[in-house]
Order: sequence, then structure tokens, then C-alpha cells
Amino acid sequence: MTEPDPSTAELRSINPYDQSEVGRVTVTPAAGVSQVINRAHQAQPAWGTLSLEQRRDAMRPLGKLLRDRADEFARLITQEMGKPINEAKGEIAATIGGFDHELDAIVEAISPEQLDDGTTKSTIYYDPFGVCACITPWNFPVMMIHWLVVPALMAGNAVILKPSEETPVTAQRYADLLTDLLPPDVLQVVHGRDDQGKALVAGEVDLICFTGSREAGKHIMASASSGLKRMILELGSKDPLIVLEDADVKAAARFAAGNSFRNAGQVCVSTERIYVPDSIAGPFMDELVKASGEIVIGDGLDEATALGPMVNAGQRDHVLKQVDEAVAQGAQVAFGHTGHHHNFVMPTVLTAVTHDMDIARTETFGPVACIITVADEHEAVDKANDTEFGLGAVVFGEPEHANRVARQLNAGMIGVNKSVGGACGAPWVGARQSGYGYHASRDGHRQFCQPRVVSFAK
Ligand code: NAD
Repeated sequence: MTEPDPSTAELRSINPYDQSEVGRVTVTPAAGVSQVINRAHQAQPAWGTLSLEQRRDAMRPLGKLLRDRADEFARLITQEMGKPINEAKGEIAATIGGFDHELDAIVEAISPEQLDDGTTKSTIYYDPFGVCACITPWNFPVMMIHWLVVPALMAGNAVILKPSEETPVTAQRYADLLTDLLPPDVLQVVHGRDDQGKALVAGEVDLICFTGSREAGKHIMASASSGLKRMILELGSKDPLIVLEDADVKAAARFAAGNSFRNAGQVCVSTERIYVPDSIAGPFMDELVKASGEIVIGDGLDEATALGPMVNAGQRDHVLKQVDEAVAQGAQVAFGHTGHHHNFVMPTVLTAVTHDMDIARTETFGPVACIITVADEHEAVDKANDTEFGLGAVVFGEPEHANRVARQLNAGMIGVNKSVGGACGAPWVGARQSGYGYHASRDGHRQFCQPRVVSFAK
């Protein structure tokens, strides 16, 4: 969490566990964002005309730099936003694991392509757009930046990063590693709140890469429309978990606990709704409650902690309000929802949740597992699909059966008996209002580029 220091133009980053100061960054005045954009435009042509291999080689040392500082980054993430240290270490490991391969995969994806149909010979070039704004959230303070900034730079764009105001110190430290490897102004950082993000989107940028809430995404799309600016939006969701009658109930319940409470539920692909048939609802709930009771709550820096504080009081209050409203409307507390202090929300299991409750429709982003019982899988699919979101979904059941159900779900990424993450090379993609454009994968890497086709008659 952060708060402005009115005496200086700084954001003070505050540890949500003990309210100690983690660090400070200098805020970029919103009125000064256009100068940052101008500098990026001046720096971009030289960077964009380097060969892909030269850009790759310039960026390659980032992997080792991050690996050497993995523990330092993990600690900083935990201090800035409360994530348990083991999850923070996991975030860094996932960010840098396969980095060399990732760079090579980008080179392969956006190298020129030759086409020849017998009468015409064409070359497709994947050129930079120019200046790219990367606007990122706080829940994965390094990974979310890395996912956007690396392909944007590799494509030859100059990048202006506007990291979340909640985790600016981590963002600046990551950016410092990368800027040292790049020519001046190829990567710049703008710090501040949504005003700085809005100024960036409204400015003379050519591509906007945004990860964050659907509401901000809509605002960005509206603002970008006057210039028909290109954009990639990765937005929020309300991911369902469907448990089929032939599922391994214990494994499904363990998954539900892990994926509802990980990072205190502050994950875009958290399990936010659980559809369980009446016939197995009892044993499923018992297992889920048991798993919830095993979660160690505390300071994220303690290795034993599995659930730390929410990122800030606003997020805590949003979650508690949704739970209170659901309980007032008839939901039952099977576990948790007691003894909240500071920025914590206890892991909570709700049963008798109904489809019309706000907690079943609006993103919670908190450690709450909501069980909605259904008569059969058809009702589960209908209800799972009855949402404007569509980032991820998970189905637990006999694999072939679960696969048939998975193919009926209107989400971008669906896990069968596992989380949503795809094999190396798969896109990170949302359906419906969870995303617009996407990244990772060959086609995802190409979205950071303007294709140009040069053709000759044969
Ligand atoms: P947020 O939308 O509040 O803020 C994200 C970033 O956008 C911040 O840097 C913020 O300052 C900036 N911003 C806010 N309003 C803006 C505007 N109108 N114009 C330009 N910039 C603006 O989101 P958050 O609270 O930081 O992150 C949580 C959200 O992000 C959740 O909804 C979560 O599901 C989503 N998320 C999605 C993915 C994904 O891959 N789809 C990944 C992580 C998080």
C-alpha cells in the first residue's frame, strides 16, 4: 500500500502487515508525462532499427540479474503488498524461469516471414509500433511488468512503464536492472496513481498494454478510441470451478482452497465461484473447511505463512462488505469470517451462495471460497457462463468428461483437474470482458508489433 507524502512529490510505500515504510518513489507530475513520451519517441528509432538478435542480446543479462537478486526481490514484494514469502519466491522463479527460451521464442515469432503462392512473393515484417505504454497492477508486482515490458521492448518499441501505485518500489528496482542494459530513454518509468495512467493513455503513445481491472480497461478503451490506438488489455474476472460428480472430491477441495486463498485471493485467475452438485456438496465442503483450517496466517516474511494481509484497507473493506452482504442475504459461513484485524481477511468458506448475490457476480479479489450447489452439470455450465467475465475456469472430474464440460465454458483458459496455466507457448488470454488482445505464444508476441507486407510479382 502507499500514501502520498504531501510535503514532497513522493509516494510512500507502506508494508500492509506492520505499516512500516518500505521505500519512496518520486511521482511524475501528470502534466510532465508528455515530456516522457517525447523522450521515448526520440529514443525509439535507434532501438527499433537494431536487429532482433541485438535487442535480444542486450536484454539477455536480465535473467541472471534477477536470479542473483531473487531473494531480495521476493522480500520486497512481501513487504510492499503482503504476499507470503514463498509465493513471492515462486513469482520470481516463474518470471525468470525459461527467460532465455522466452527471448528466443520472441525472436522466432517476430522474425520476417516469406510467403510465395506462385504468382506473388511477400515478406511479412513485424515492426515496432513506436512508443508503448505498459500499465500494470500490484498483485504480481514483478511478473506483470515483465510479461508486458519484455515483448514490447523485444519488438523494438520504446516503453513507458506506469506500475501500480501500490508496489512502486519493486517496480522501480526491476526497471533499474533493465534500464542499465538499454540505451537511454528506451525504458522509462512514470510513477503515480490513475492520473498518470490516464495522461499516458491520452498522450501520443502508439500501443497501450494494460493489465488491471475491467473498469480501468473500459476507461482506457474509451480514451484510446479518439486516436484508434492499438491496445492489449488483460482484465479482471470471476473464475468458476466446476466439480463434477465423478471428480476426486478431496483433490478438488484441496485445489479450491489453494486457488481461492493463494495471495489472499488477489489473483486474476483465483477461484471465485465453486459449482458443486448436491450429491457431493457435503464431502466437498468438509474437505474444503479442513484445508482452510490448515492455513497459517501472519507476516508474509515468516516462511510458515500461507496467508498474509490484503494489499490495503480498501481491498479488505471491499471483500468484507461482499461477505457481509452475502450473509445478510442467506449465505452461511462454514469457515472463517471472524476476528479481522489490520488488513487481514481470514480465509472464509461460504455455502448457500446464490447466483444473484453480488459475491457471485462481482470480482471479490479476496480469500473467500463461495460454494453454489447445483442440480447437475448443465446448471453448473449455465451459471458458470452467466457472467460478463471470461479469463479462466477449472473443471474437476473424470478427464474425458471434464474435457467435454471444459469445451462448453466461455473462458479463455480452462484447466482440467489443474490450474488454468497452459503449456509453454500457450497464450495468456481472456474471453469476453476479461481481455482484449492477449500476450505470450507466437501470436501473442506478434501483438506488440505492426505487421507490414512487402510484395513482388513473380
Ligand atoms: P487497477 O485497474 O486499479 O490498476 C491497474 C493499473 O492501472 C495501475 O497502475 C493504476 O494506477 C492504473 N490505472 C487505473 N485507472 C486507470 C485509468 N483510467 N487509465 C490508466 N491507468 C489507470 O487494477 P489493480 O487494482 O492494480 O489490479 C487488480 C485488477 O487487475 C483485478 O481486477 C485483477 O483481476 C486484474 N488483473 C488481471 C490480470 C490478467 O492477466 N487478466 C492479471 C493481474 C491482475
